[in-house]
Amino acid sequence: MAVVIKNATIVNIDEEIHGDIVMRDGVFVRVGGNAVAEPEDTVVEAEGLCAFPGLVDMHVHLRDPGQTHKEDILSGCAAAAAGGVTSLVCMPNTSPAVDSAETVAYIVNKAKATGIHVYPAAAITFGLSGSGCCDYEALKKAGAAALSDDGRPVEDDGMLLNALREGERLGLPVLCHCEDLTQAAGGKVHEGRASRLLGVKGMSSASEYADIERTISLAESVGARVHICHVSTKESIDVIRRAKARGVKVTCETAPHYFIYTCEKVLGRDADYRMNPPLREEADRLAVIDGLLDGTIDAIATDHAPHSPEEKADFVKAPNGVIGMETSLAATLTFLRDQLSLPEIARLMSFHPARILGIPGGEIKIGAPADLTLVNLSEKWIVDPTRLHGRSRNAVFKGEELTGRVKATYCGGKRVF
Ligand SMILES: [Zn+2]
Repeated sequence: MAVVIKNATIVNIDEEIHGDIVMRDGVFVRVGGNAVAEPEDTVVEAEGLCAFPGLVDMHVHLRDPGQTHKEDILSGCAAAAAGGVTSLVCMPNTSPAVDSAETVAYIVNKAKATGIHVYPAAAITFGLSGSGCCDYEALKKAGAAALSDDGRPVEDDGMLLNALREGERLGLPVLCHCEDLTQAAGGKVHEGRASRLLGVKGMSSASEYADIERTISLAESVGARVHICHVSTKESIDVIRRAKARGVKVTCETAPHYFIYTCEKVLGRDADYRMNPPLREEADRLAVIDGLLDGTIDAIATDHAPHSPEEKADFVKAPNGVIGMETSLAATLTFLRDQLSLPEIARLMSFHPARILGIPGGEIKIGAPADLTLVNLSEKWIVDPTRLHGRSRNAVFKGEELTGRVKATYCGGKRVF
């Protein structure tokens, strides 16, 4: 029995074609042309819809184990499916942190029921505390797909070097949250006009790009690959652009809020616009778009970070982070459609992250995992946080009218949304 998608605009990494898609036994068996369905097949009429490769979101916080009042693996994967995300990397800053084989196995097992491909990132240091390096070989054996201390930088150069070397040896990408805590600790918003007007501590651009420079230098010194998370400043993009030009094996991601919003948003003291790194200035926003256009930025991820309404109620005390998996594709289509082609968007949101991670998927190709999302490019909708599928409501695009809506998502050939 197969699923036959009829008459879709098929968006692939280098072209758009019109035609049919057939998925059988978890993989694509036909892409394009005219498919003849057998009586037992499921036929989906997709005239007027775009079939994108299922999104690969390489930066997600599922809060499970330990903080399941915010989100858990099941609710997070429901949000993923609703946003067209079929593969995701969940970050290890849970409670306990993902620093043991047991916790990796817990995530892998619980995720089996979701129908979504969940790839745990394991911690670089015990408890993300910087107190010592984890056993990467054991973590990989248990199912870890990457290494990260996301939420914190690895401040000890020796430990970061060890992780970079071991990551290279074991085929585990190292995903670096770059932040100089001696500058930024306790910061609430971008340092500048926003922090002055609000009277709160700022997080400077230098606290991000100086640590990116350190991280790239260390990777370069040992010839290792490194991936920089959530790039938000113009200087960070310049640093990465120059490193790529001299042959450093560096990749990076940004998130939709960094190319759509600026720190003007926080002036109303709404903590749903607070995240780390923070929303920056207009020049930074434009530089992020330039980085996406010229290939300096490889991927769009969400940094989906659920927090309860109670935790987000107080502007200053609220933890950092916003949710975004259900809006990332629609927001990108809405705000970048005139600058990026659909295949370019598919590369940024599916193909490149899959290749950086070394996982299957990310393209609609015969033999590849049958992960795709059907999108109505012209449907307008207003983001209502109470109608999203995850457990938290801190949606950065709340109230925004977006153009482009996910209508169905298939993962491994099975309908998950
Ligand atoms: Zn981070």
